Amino acid sequence: MRKETIAVHGGYEPDPTTGAVAVPIYQTVAYAFDSAEHGAALFNLEAQGYRYSRISNPTNAVLERRVADLEGGVDALSVGSGQAALTYALLNVAQAGRNIVSVPQLYGTTHTLLAHLLPQWGINARFAASDQPEDVEAAIDGDTRAVFCESVGNPAGNIADLVPLAEAAHRHGVPLIVDNTVATPVLLRPIDHGADIVVHSLTKFMGGHGTTMGGIVVDGGRFAWAEHGERFPQFNQPDASYHGLVYSEHFGRTAYAARLRSVYLRTTGAVLSPLSAFLLLQGIESVFVRVERHVQNARRVAEFLRNDTRVEWVNYAGFADNPYYPLVQRYLGGQACSLLTFGVRGGYAGGTRFYDALSLVKRLVNLGDAKSLACHPASTTHRQMPPDVQRNAGVTPEMIRLSVGIEHVDDILADLDQALDAAVSPMFSSERSRHVA
Ligand SMILES: *Cc1c(COP(=O)(O)O)cnc(C)c1O
Repeated sequence: MRKETIAVHGGYEPDPTTGAVAVPIYQTVAYAFDSAEHGAALFNLEAQGYRYSRISNPTNAVLERRVADLEGGVDALSVGSGQAALTYALLNVAQAGRNIVSVPQLYGTTHTLLAHLLPQWGINARFAASDQPEDVEAAIDGDTRAVFCESVGNPAGNIADLVPLAEAAHRHGVPLIVDNTVATPVLLRPIDHGADIVVHSLTKFMGGHGTTMGGIVVDGGRFAWAEHGERFPQFNQPDASYHGLVYSEHFGRTAYAARLRSVYLRTTGAVLSPLSAFLLLQGIESVFVRVERHVQNARRVAEFLRNDTRVEWVNYAGFADNPYYPLVQRYLGGQACSLLTFGVRGGYAGGTRFYDALSLVKRLVNLGDAKSLACHPASTTHRQMPPDVQRNAGVTPEMIRLSVGIEHVDDILADLDQALDAAVSPMFSSERSRHVA
């Protein structure tokens, strides 16, 4: 099946007992054993089947198979949010005393996870000086256990040069882990370019309607854990919590995903509800047509903003003069993502006047919804940081981040146009709000 078809059918055949064509929501905690022997075989991971929904669930299994196939992986683990997926993906490779090497441009909460939370558990983050592969490789040391990046950075919009990043990681015997939330497998499949593990916030474009939180870790199945026994004892030595099971021997190519499930999901329990898995599957069925429209609309919006004197700058990787333009051609098939940032004239005041005047475009901190969404980082997500720290994080006072939706593009442009009027003319803005009131 081609990717578009996998998105609709992957991982599911009509239910053999009922013929149900839609994926059933298996809203059950537990599953009956045929006998004590059958239960024992399930608990020994010798028989395939279900025991308890903290570990696995048939609805979630369809989602896992579908996303694994979409990304070209061998297996996947679904969890309750993108952050849970990232936490599990990193804990699975790095134990206390080890480190993760990361590009500096990251989603804010992921930066917090790496810079502040994982160090409390003895796992350090080494942030490279830039996202250039040479800088990333220079940050790797003997304790590094993975290289991490976002394929398309949120909100910076930088694009990872995956092939040399994967080569650098592999030269040092560690996997490349990629957050593919913003790009989605519609535009980019990191495993095709050498990545070993792919992580998603399914909350965004994959679910696509702003209704459901979810995350997933996809195992590419190519990293040879068994060849790096000393670096990764957790995959190659007997696990005392599983009566001496050795993951790389028992599971082979799916060792990474199997350990995610039987260690982290089983003991810390960030499960995805089967109802959420169902809703996310509904979203994934249309992800190809939605992302196509998102991308088309974003190009029109970026061109409109760039040609407007009320706008100071536009950061959109689809412009030929953007430094990441060559990587858009190489990795995204020439299709820049629908997440873009721009600066309204008038600094912080101009930015907030624009933001307050938006009407169709919603003010919030989400992305990848069918609806157009805007965020003003200086007043919300980054407001705790002093201005110079904001600037280092790529946030300027006037900056607006837009997630361009799938509405008719003329309606999006009309809303941006009237909000820009309000931004450059405070008088207009107050008159307009009186009018609206
Ligand atoms: C939103 C987001 C996350 C976190 O996902 P949640 O589902 O909100 O936990 C992680 N990475 C990126 C790039 C995101 O945009």
